[in-house]
Amino acid sequence: MANLYQTNQSKGGQPSNNTLRPVNSLPINDKTIIKGGNLDKLAQLRKRARVKYIQQPKIHALMSLALEKEDIEMYKGYSHTLTCASTITQQGKKLKSSYCNQRWCIVCSRIRTAKHINEYMPEFNKMIDPYFVTLTAPNVKGEALRSEIKKLLATFKSIQETARKRKNPLVGIRKIESTYNIQKDTYHPHLHIIVEGINQAKYILSEWLKKSPISDIKGQKILKADINSLAELFKYSVKEVVKDENNEENESYIDIPSLHVIYKSMRNIRTFQPIGGMKKLKATTEENEEIQLTAQEYELLEPNTDKYVWNMNDWYSMRTGEALSGYQPHASTIRMSNRIKTNKSNPNLYGHNRKKTETSG
Ligand SMILES: [Zn+2]
Repeated sequence: MANLYQTNQSKGGQPSNNTLRPVNSLPINDKTIIKGGNLDKLAQLRKRARVKYIQQPKIHALMSLALEKEDIEMYKGYSHTLTCASTITQQGKKLKSSYCNQRWCIVCSRIRTAKHINEYMPEFNKMIDPYFVTLTAPNVKGEALRSEIKKLLATFKSIQETARKRKNPLVGIRKIESTYNIQKDTYHPHLHIIVEGINQAKYILSEWLKKSPISDIKGQKILKADINSLAELFKYSVKEVVKDENNEENESYIDIPSLHVIYKSMRNIRTFQPIGGMKKLKATTEENEEIQLTAQEYELLEPNTDKYVWNMNDWYSMRTGEALSGYQPHASTIRMSNRIKTNKSNPNLYGHNRKKTETSG
């Protein structure tokens, strides 16, 4: 039985001719379970390994913070993510795993985003003249974020109702997200809406300014929607990396305390929802949706019954100890993964001597 930690990188692997960019430039590992073909699926598996690898320090830091705040609900939620896709079961040539389905989990968010884009694309394609509207209100402090998010959603709902009463119901999808301003220590919740026609877009904007008079017209935006708008709408709803311009190196990092505030404030709030005539497909909100990844078939995988268990950066066979994906993090990935800040009063917690250059892998 091979050493559990041995991945045995060897030369002479096959380059990917697939459109999917390989996660890193390492040759395909001879000792890797998936051999030769299946390069797109192997690339996908390595991407998953990379994301899982990258997010571990973030999840640990969020757990410690929740524990410090004696917030058991959030602690449990965060800890669930540590076991996300930690075990992969093989039946024949199929691989299967279970997922945590938490909002802060990047593994799950990526799967979810892809799934939502696929589900909504046919509806989006039916739209004649779609617009992408952004609605904002002044920033708020962390304590006020949850109530502000609820207020924005209620205001938007009342715009929907007014439109319906005027026999001109809105059709589209709306999404709420929040960003964080590190310099001012304030939060910026905002709405994105894809809506049919310029008239509906303008109507939403004028009603928004009426119903939310503290909103500045400069913060609002109407753009013509295109094929990228769905991806923009369904992408991960929290921008994790912040940049501190006061920091002399102007380096970006993950700010754990503000992330916790955002996740806690958005707990049990639907981040997106179809509006009006937009057909409700099954699994339209992340709350009622279980990510059920259909078992993927790997053609060249030796048919077997096996279990692969996550350890550091890959899944290892319980039978043979071989690595499943052959993923190895680059030095830049290791740096990126550790670039987290857990305490506002101690900016030295994140490295000032780290290099800025970054590549994927
Ligand atoms: Zn997950």
